[in-house]
Amino acid sequence: MRPLYQAGDRIEAQLLHDLLDRHLIRTVILGDALAGAAGELPLDIHPTLWLIDDDDRERAEAILARFLREGLGGHPTPAWTCPHCGEQVEAGFALCWNCATPYPE
Ligand SMILES: [Zn+2]
Repeated sequence: MRPLYQAGDRIEAQLLHDLLDRHLIRTVILGDALAGAAGELPLDIHPTLWLIDDDDRERAEAILARFLREGLGGHPTPAWTCPHCGEQVEAGFALCWNCATPYPE
């Protein structure tokens, strides 16, 4: 198991975890190595997303790249349904995960 991405905070880590989970990519969220994994993690630790199956790395990185490009920046959106493919897109994302259609204005 190898680290995939160090998140800015736990909310981002959880968001990415859930997103990747929807793509059937399994990850776990751990605090940094020095803090260990036991108990509650303090908020100032940057959690790291670990890929359970390294065969998923290529897909996971593509999804991550899109998240980082389009993700939480700018104008938050509510959850929406893609008008092109009907995919349910989670709140805060400006692009459809399935077909990359932008959030309709
Ligand atoms: Zn779509």
